[in-house]
Amino acid sequence: MFTSMHTHTVQELHFCQKGPLNAVVALHNLRLGPALGGCRFIEYASELDAIEDAMRLAHGMSYKAALARVPQGGGKAVIMKPKGEFDRAELFKLFGQFIQSLEGRYITAMDSGTTVSDMDMLRTQTTFVSSSSNIGDPSPSTAHGMLIGIETAVRFAMKQSLRGITVAIQGLGHVGLTLARHLHEAGCQLIVCDVDEKKTQLAQSQFSAKVVGVHEIYQQTCDVFSPCGLGGVLNETTISLLNCKIIAGCANNQLAHDDLAERIHEMGILYAPDYVINSGGLVFASSSYRGMNTHQILTEVNKLKDTLDKIFVLSKSKNVACNFIANEMAEKILYGAEPAKDWMLEAI
Ligand code: NAD
Repeated sequence: MFTSMHTHTVQELHFCQKGPLNAVVALHNLRLGPALGGCRFIEYASELDAIEDAMRLAHGMSYKAALARVPQGGGKAVIMKPKGEFDRAELFKLFGQFIQSLEGRYITAMDSGTTVSDMDMLRTQTTFVSSSSNIGDPSPSTAHGMLIGIETAVRFAMKQSLRGITVAIQGLGHVGLTLARHLHEAGCQLIVCDVDEKKTQLAQSQFSAKVVGVHEIYQQTCDVFSPCGLGGVLNETTISLLNCKIIAGCANNQLAHDDLAERIHEMGILYAPDYVINSGGLVFASSSYRGMNTHQILTEVNKLKDTLDKIFVLSKSKNVACNFIANEMAEKILYGAEPAKDWMLEAI
C-alpha cells in the first residue's frame, strides 16, 4: 500500500467500513488548503481497484486546483457501490459522518454515481460538502471556462476572434450543449455528434450545427476539436485522423496516455490541457463553498485565460508539449521551494 501511495504521491489514505459503507478518501497534497474533490459511487471489481481510483483521481485534483489558483488541495473519495439491495440514505448518512471525522481536511462534492440528494443527505451530517441543491450545478461554470479557454487558444494559434471559426464538439451533455450555445452566440460554425440523437437534433435546430456520426467526428475539417464526452478518446488511431488546429475540450483525461501530448505537439496542433481548460467547475465548487457570489465566481473562472496563455507561450518558446508545461507549472506550485503565495503563478 505504501509503495502504491508513493507511486501516486498520495500523502494520506483514510478508510471507513460501517454497515453498507465501504469508503476510501485519498488526500494527495494539502499545501494550498483543504482537499476538495468529488465522491465517486460506482461498482468496483476489487477493493484495490477502488483505492487505486481514489489515489489517481486525488492526484489529478491537486494539479487542477494548483493551476486553477483555488486555495484547495487535491483529494477524492470513492465509495464502493454495494451489489444488490442497500439503504442509500443510511449509506450517505454514514459517509457524511466519516467526512466530518476528517475535520475539514477533505471537502466532498458530486461525481460519477452521486446525486444532489446524496449531497443534501451528507449535509445533515457534515458541513464539508461543496455540492447541494442550494449551491447548484457546476457545469455552466465549466462551459463558461471552456468558452474563455477556446477563445484564448484561437487567439494564440490563429490570431483571430471566435467569429467564423469551426468547432467540432464531441458530446452534447451538461457542458457540451451549453458550450455549443455560447459558441453559436459568438459566431462559430458547429459540427456536433452525440450518441443521443435528441441532443444532436436540438443543436441542429437551435445552433444550425452540422450533425455527424460518433465515428466521423475526428476527421472533420475544423479549427477546434472539442472532446466533451468521454475520457481517453485521443489515442494513436484517432489522433492520426484529426484535421484541426486546436484541441480544447472539457472531458477529463482525454489522452489515452501522456506521451500522446508530444505527438500532438509535433503535429503542430495546439492542445489546451484538459485539467486546465475544464477547471471552471472546480473554481465554482471552491468559490461557492467559500461564499463568493456569481459575479466573483465568474471573475475567478476567467483567470484560466492567463494560465492558458502562459502555457501556450512557454510551450512555443521551449518547444515542449503543453501538457508537460502545465504539469511542470503545477508541480512548482505543489512542491517548489518557494511557498505558494496567493496561488499565483509569478514564480513560473
Ligand atoms: P454528461 O454526461 O452530461 O455529457 C456527456 C455527453 O457525451 C452525453 O450527452 C453523452 O450522450 C455523450 N457521449 C457519450 N459517449 C459518447 C460518444 N462515444 N460520442 C459522442 N458523445 C458521447 O457529462 P458532462 O457533465 O457534460 O461532462 C462531460 C465531460 O467533461 C466528462 O468527461 C466530465 O468528467 C468532464 N467534466 C465535467 C465537468 C462539469 O462541470 N460537468 C467539469 C470538469 C470535467
